[in-house]
Amino acid sequence: MIKKERKKPLKVISLEAILGRLPLNYQNRPYIEDELGKAMAGWRGEQAIDFHLSFLPKEQTMILHDLRLEDNENRFFQIDTVLLSSKFHLILEVKNMAGTLYFNNDPQQLVQKLNNEEKAYQCPILLVERQRLQLQTFLKKFQIPEVPILTLVVISHANSVIKFAPNFYKAKQCVIHAAAIPDKISGIKAPFKNEILSQKELKKAARILVKNHQPLNKDYLEHFNIPKSDILPGVHCPKCRNLPMERKRGYWLCPSCQHSSKNAHIAAIYDYSLLINSKITNQAIREFLHLQSIFATTKLLNSLNLKKEGQFKGRSYFL
Ligand SMILES: [Zn+2]
Repeated sequence: MIKKERKKPLKVISLEAILGRLPLNYQNRPYIEDELGKAMAGWRGEQAIDFHLSFLPKEQTMILHDLRLEDNENRFFQIDTVLLSSKFHLILEVKNMAGTLYFNNDPQQLVQKLNNEEKAYQCPILLVERQRLQLQTFLKKFQIPEVPILTLVVISHANSVIKFAPNFYKAKQCVIHAAAIPDKISGIKAPFKNEILSQKELKKAARILVKNHQPLNKDYLEHFNIPKSDILPGVHCPKCRNLPMERKRGYWLCPSCQHSSKNAHIAAIYDYSLLINSKITNQAIREFLHLQSIFATTKLLNSLNLKKEGQFKGRSYFL
């Protein structure tokens, strides 16, 4: 079975790692916290969708999440969720927005009213239409027979109020609340009776999409203008988040809460590779973890079964 499960987004992981290694009074902090809040809201919205999708009959449908694909013009397009079937495909664009959401068609934009404030956004219907064309072209390139591609904009915030401009029929058809997903999909699929794709072709389509997924490896430190030297080194206490723990013989000890851990360094090495350098050397990790001995560092790194490159002093490790 080909599956691309929804994982915690790299953006959320990166921003959490950065915030965990900046002093509490760091000047950029509120801005990064704000960005993390938005990324978390998006992720929560997508998880809410998964719950409603779990009510769909499992057979003959493949659900892929968080795809980032390159189109013919070297532009990337991202798809939150796509359902693939032998009769049609369905793209879901998820918006976790609170308040009153007004879909205006002249000009076509989404206006959010929240706490007596009005904010306009690009209309997600336009976005999902573009994704439809890009996905269509993408699958064509790999000789997958063409099936109709449908689109839905899903509002995952349970308490938001959705409103439409009176003559905006398209929006009325394709914008729904998350809870309406199973009903909407059974309505959508009713007219599609012909199986265009064989099971083999359907699996091939899913495999191609998963294989061509290119995660966005954004340098968030650069994005937030944070010099690497501002990132606090050391091993976090898994219990109280104190930084740094002290290395004792074969374990880590938290000077603040006295918690001890054998493998607290793993998270720190992951942070290092995520934020500082994906190429890990003995010396760099020794400094980052506050270890004294080259030998102990080698032992820790070897125990992680990382991919290795080079010999002796010049050896690098990759997560
Ligand atoms: Zn502690």
